[in-house]
Amino acid sequence: MNTGANQTIRCTVNQCKYHEQAKNLCSLDAITVGTHEANPTQEQCTDCLSFEVK
Ligand code: SF4
Repeated sequence: MNTGANQTIRCTVNQCKYHEQAKNLCSLDAITVGTHEANPTQEQCTDCLSFEVK
């Protein structure tokens, strides 16, 4: 659900359709974070699975 900027989810991925441009926030109520690695060891291993391209 898209209900405006969520003050508790900060995000800099402005290519996502849920990104709130002005304050670098996510507009979803909640997101899912996952990984594309078998054994994640650093932040680059994690992904926002709620991402959708604009
Ligand atoms: S869905 Fe994920 S990638 Fe998209 S704005 Fe929200 S936190 Fe960022």
